[in-house]
Amino acid sequence: MIVLTLLALLPLGTLAVSAQSPDEIVRSPKVRKALEFIRAIEPETIEEQIRTAEIPAPTFKEGKRAEYYKRRFSELGLSKVRIDAAGNVIGERPGSDPSRTLVIAAHLDTVFPEGTDVKVKRNGNLLTGPGIGDDARGLAVMLAVIRALNEAKIETRDNIIFVGDVGEEGLGNLRGVGHLVTEELKGRITNFIALDASGYDLVTREIGSNRYRVTFSGPGGHSFKEFGRTSAIHALGRAIEKISRLTVPADPRTTYNVGKIDGGTTVNSIAQTASMEVDLRSVSAEELSRLDAKFRQAVEAALAEENAARPDGARLSVEVELIGERPVGKQAADAPIIQTIIAMDKALGIPTNPTVSSTDSGMPQRFGIPSVTVGSGGTWKGMHSVGESFDTTDSYRGSQRVLAAIIAVAGPRM
Ligand SMILES: [Zn+2]
Repeated sequence: MIVLTLLALLPLGTLAVSAQSPDEIVRSPKVRKALEFIRAIEPETIEEQIRTAEIPAPTFKEGKRAEYYKRRFSELGLSKVRIDAAGNVIGERPGSDPSRTLVIAAHLDTVFPEGTDVKVKRNGNLLTGPGIGDDARGLAVMLAVIRALNEAKIETRDNIIFVGDVGEEGLGNLRGVGHLVTEELKGRITNFIALDASGYDLVTREIGSNRYRVTFSGPGGHSFKEFGRTSAIHALGRAIEKISRLTVPADPRTTYNVGKIDGGTTVNSIAQTASMEVDLRSVSAEELSRLDAKFRQAVEAALAEENAARPDGARLSVEVELIGERPVGKQAADAPIIQTIIAMDKALGIPTNPTVSSTDSGMPQRFGIPSVTVGSGGTWKGMHSVGESFDTTDSYRGSQRVLAAIIAVAGPRM
């Protein structure tokens, strides 16, 4: 349904990003050479993907993987290779117009805590291991793209800055790309492409989310002697019941989840504290703020009810703490960067799959920088689980797709 909606909105306009037509780009000898090269090295790209996945990189502990990518960026001849103050690894490939910069980013971090067995198992075309797709694939394809550009001696109008970024997952809250946009590369980014999706996905819009920890607290007491006193757990139960009955639209897609609860001490104690973690999401900023208001009302109403039901003077209080916030993407469906990538896919015979997600692209979109997240081939399954897998069948086509998109957006000099 989402796919149809987005396709219907895409007019067949002119391409403002690159001077050449997609067919001209794909047919040029240099680009053909690069496309053939990236296909030929796909087995090495898959090896690189496995090597990457096997370097542990929990969010906030990406250092080892960043050091590895720093070395690879230097080996591949990028300039100004560095690790910035946030921990992002950065390498530059200068273009002819210093005023224009295309950023290519793949995230270093994974959702898996320290100590997770990150060994990758290989069975024919199927690779299994935590983070093998998300985002070892994006990182490995980024290196393959640099090699192919070098091999075919492709020069571009735009500077291309390659980044392995930190803090994309969970409570990282896109902090790596946030630092890029507001500090490290402030004012320099013309276009932004994240390599962080399956197959031929094209993420054109970012889902917004607000995440909260809600904690009820009160005096507690003995379950028999102080019976009738307010209970933090009873209040939490009332709040969850109210949240679970909130109505949200299916379109624009809007969702909520109470994902974690905690509280109390023993079966015969009135609970002093009880907490929950709540995830609110929407593809629409208005619907997200509407849901946010309803969620807050539900929490306040639960508190008032529990206090009113136990009028012995021992009042409960509640704290609502924001633990995560991702912006809803603001970008026209016919933005030139989107049209360019769809047109290049078409020239290569790639079936574009337009979709919505929550990725690094959300951060540049917040600052009005055209940005998309693209799939770099293969098939991802079981993301964020230790059973995550990546099917390599025809994955070279995804590498070619990413290469062609980058060349088109950066403006090839032919
Ligand atoms: Zn990812």
